[in-house]
Amino acid sequence: MDIGGVRRERPRAQPGRMSTARTWLPAGNLRRMRPFSLAHRDADVADATSGEVDVLVVGIGATGAGVALDAASRGLSVVAVDKGDLAAGTSSKSSKLIHGGLRYLENYEFALVHEGVVERQQLMRLAPHLVRPMEFVYPVWPDTARRRLVGLGLTTYDVFAVASLGTLRSDVRRHERISVEEAVELAPALSRSGLTYGFVYGDCATDDARLVLAVVQEARRFGAVTLPHAEVVSFTPDAAGRVRGAVLADHLTGRTHEVRARHVVNATGVWVDRLMTAADARHVPAVQPSKGVHVVVPHERLPLDEASVLLPSKQGDGRSMFAIPWGRQTILGTTDTAYDGSLESLALEQDDLDYVLASGNRVFDRSLTEDDVLGAWAGVRPLLKGSPDGNGAMGDLSRRHTLIEGESGLITITGGKLTTYRRMAADVVDLIVGRLGTKAPCRTDEIPLGSARPLAALVADTVAAATAVGVSAEAAKLLVRQHGEAAASVLGLVAADPALGAPLSDAAAHLVAEVVHAARHEGAATLDDVFARRMRLSLRSRDAGMPVAPLAADLLARELGRPAQWAQQQVRDYADAVRRERGVLAATVPDPLPALASSST
Ligand SMILES: Cc1cc2nc3c(=O)[nH]c(=O)nc-3n(C[C@H](O)[C@H](O)[C@H](O)COP(=O)(O)OP(=O)(O)OC[C@H]3O[C@@H](n4cnc5c(N)ncnc54)[C@H](O)[C@@H]3O)c2cc1C
Repeated sequence: MDIGGVRRERPRAQPGRMSTARTWLPAGNLRRMRPFSLAHRDADVADATSGEVDVLVVGIGATGAGVALDAASRGLSVVAVDKGDLAAGTSSKSSKLIHGGLRYLENYEFALVHEGVVERQQLMRLAPHLVRPMEFVYPVWPDTARRRLVGLGLTTYDVFAVASLGTLRSDVRRHERISVEEAVELAPALSRSGLTYGFVYGDCATDDARLVLAVVQEARRFGAVTLPHAEVVSFTPDAAGRVRGAVLADHLTGRTHEVRARHVVNATGVWVDRLMTAADARHVPAVQPSKGVHVVVPHERLPLDEASVLLPSKQGDGRSMFAIPWGRQTILGTTDTAYDGSLESLALEQDDLDYVLASGNRVFDRSLTEDDVLGAWAGVRPLLKGSPDGNGAMGDLSRRHTLIEGESGLITITGGKLTTYRRMAADVVDLIVGRLGTKAPCRTDEIPLGSARPLAALVADTVAAATAVGVSAEAAKLLVRQHGEAAASVLGLVAADPALGAPLSDAAAHLVAEVVHAARHEGAATLDDVFARRMRLSLRSRDAGMPVAPLAADLLARELGRPAQWAQQQVRDYADAVRRERGVLAATVPDPLPALASSST
């Protein structure tokens, strides 16, 4: 059972943590958590390979991380692996919204939107530092598609939110119709030309890769073993031909490991067909990938402060896009086009870039050009074949998920959205628990993801602690957004070594200390892991953080016990990775060699 394309072919749950709304999961019977660090990789591998585990999860995107946490918190032993870094697939390439998906109401997908809104409300409660409410302006022009239905759709959206809470109170604002003046006040770059009116409504924004990391951290607290950079290259069948484990290629050591498992979950997103084919030779492909790109421009070129803008689809064009404020930058995207190319070499193409900039320029009073673009990313949605999404036009269609139990026993979960990862995970683990004939209900709605404290109090305490060690309030607030309660641990590093309190880059208020923290506590194994997913420097900055890449690589090498040459190779590898993804804008990434030369003087 070879995988195509490769063809060598329980926490201690938060003791003492209480929310004002409910009691979190009580302290469990689990082992003390080992830090998520390469320093403990050998011990993690030993745990993963020493006996048969209940569940092997293949893929550590949002879905796989969710399955790992759900299964571990129901008392199952879990190993989760990924061929790359956690969230290196689609789960770091999304629009970074936690939402019901207002536009799916256009297709009367009420159940899907309801599910998304309910999950949004849950995630705001479970990860208030990561999932934050945001206002969205919905401008309406005379040619805005289905404009008469917008108000009705927004009312439905509000009703779902209120119904999910069982109360009239929600931190996400209710929609309102607004005048042209009010719309322009909220989104100053908006073009007034022909604008007739607008709506403002509420949804949530997040950092997708950091959300996955937070779920992984909690899964580890419940005893799950997580091994990024370990690729499933084949399955190991039992005598009856059922999948009972997998062989892993460890890309960090070049070694091979075997994990034996009673249940194997294929949570590999757009890659699911490869694993399904490996397990069941007669498998018919289930997924049609759909590509989406985003570009990032400086905030001053597209000034949005608190409110995002939904760029509505015009008559005859089934797509809609978002402009989303992102600290010192603004995100513009996304596209939605059928993709049949290599899943390993996604890149920004000229058509993608032209489309996104032209869409932005139609709605904003700006003349954005390639020269304004600081960074870009490309991702692929795992849309399901056989559903309208997989066969018809790609624009603005359903994001349902599906669970497939193959003849080999392999459990495949795909489709869906970042927002609904918890539901998808619950469906998988319900199936496994059903197979086991036991009763263990899903408890992930009781497990906070990195912070259970009221956000305002956490921010106030962190700003005070940061000030005491000479770190700015802006950096402290970003620390809270990124790390939740673990912001204190980053500041602890600064207290021990004030040099680590220096700002890392102009693109965002990150500290040098966060590189060390990423290596010691966040499982980062490469410079790309740190700059692309623990921080988002590869996306936020035209130079992709290259000037400080040698410094960060040196720190990483020191933490991971690697030689100086390793650090230099990391810088080159990182530059190559960003260039690949930037595609037509690859030349914006500076040559790593001058940076290396200047760091060694
Ligand atoms: C452009 C775009 C915008 C989006 N915006 C939003 C949004 O704003 N909100 C929202 O809710 N959703 C959004 N989505 C959808 C959402 O991002 C995805 O549905 C979700 O991230 C999929 O997660 P996943 O874990 O299923 O897949 P992935 O994140 O792709 O994870 C699969 C993992 O499997 C690993 N893998 C593959 N093969 C192997 C193997 N052989 N061995 C080990 N590991 C393997 C991969 O490396 C990968 O990390 C967007 C998607 C796109 C493309």
